[in-house]
Amino acid sequence: MADCECLGTCPFFNDQMENMPGLSTMYKRSYCKNDYASCARYMIFKAKGKPAVPPDMFPNQQDRAKELLGLS
Ligand code: SF4
Repeated sequence: MADCECLGTCPFFNDQMENMPGLSTMYKRSYCKNDYASCARYMIFKAKGKPAVPPDMFPNQQDRAKELLGLS
């Protein structure tokens, strides 16, 4: 269990995204403060850098992340 390195600046973790999902607290617990490597935003951040992360991407959108990374 570890904190994501993006916690301080991530718009999702800091409630700065529009249409925050009702399960955002759960996502923060399961991704941001635990398995951040599985977060869709983190996947893009690691592969392509922060500017490449879609502003409206949520942590559970791994399929979308894989598509953007050409992995699916
Ligand atoms: S796990 Fe994902 S949503 Fe959470 S702080 Fe890291 S990049 Fe942001």
